[in-house]
Formats: sequence, C-alpha cells, structure tokens
Amino acid sequence: MPAIVYKLIPQDPFFELPEELVVPFEQKMKTINDDNRLEITERVQFIDAGEEFHGICCPFCDAALDPMWWHQKMAAFYARTHGFYDLTVTTPCCEQSTSLNELVYDWPQGFASVSVQTTHEASLPILKEAALELTGVPWRWVKARYEVFD
Ligand SMILES: [Zn+2]
Repeated sequence: MPAIVYKLIPQDPFFELPEELVVPFEQKMKTINDDNRLEITERVQFIDAGEEFHGICCPFCDAALDPMWWHQKMAAFYARTHGFYDLTVTTPCCEQSTSLNELVYDWPQGFASVSVQTTHEASLPILKEAALELTGVPWRWVKARYEVFD
C-alpha cells in the first residue's frame, strides 16, 4: 500500500530555524496535527519525493537534464564539503548559472535542513501559513510517495 507524506520546507535551502523558535515552531505544528513531525538536520539534505522522482528539467530552456549529470553534481558537492553548503551549478544545456534547488524536479523536490512532515492533506494550507507567520520566510511543499510493505 502506498503512503503519501508531505514535507514542508523553506524556499531558501539555507534557512535555519533560529534557536529560540524551535520549540514554539514545533508546538505550533503539533497543535495543528499532533503527529506532525519537525525534523532538523545539522546539514542541508536533499528532500526527495520518494518513488515519484521522474526527471529534472532546466528552469531556463526546459531541456530535460541527464540524471547522470545531476548525480555527479550531487556527489561532487558532497565529496568536496561533506554537505550541501553551495548548490551553484551551470546548466549543461544553456550554460546558465543557477542552483540545484532551482532546477525543475518532477515531482517537486528541494534542499533543506529543516522540514515538517505531515500526512494530513487538509492541513497543508494552514501549516504553510503558520510556518510563514512564525519565521517570516516563505515555505513550500514536497509531496512524497513511498511503497509500504507489511
Ligand atoms: Zn537549459
């Protein structure tokens, strides 16, 4: 049976939740649904769509990007700095400078060190609004699907 998980991430991949906001932020998210989960990692991670990663396109010319090119970029960033501290790339199709976070992922995916995971589809607008209100920065959703085996 497939499971859908929604992951709320800041639009800026390098946004960090200020120390004093961690507890109120988590409390607010749990007030909306008590099983919402706040995840904070030391380093910026790729926030994936689970089984629904179908391709990547260039945000400038719409060309489909070679998954191998993307994997090499991901591996190179990680090898150089042991984390994603810089996501700057030049698109291979039209040679524009951009960020791995700005590529067009199908389904939408991104990078973040803070995320809120929820399974409550009805709560998506209110969670996003609450995150914006508490932090003052815009957030967006990554929708993921996982196969669940029992
Ligand atoms: Zn391009």
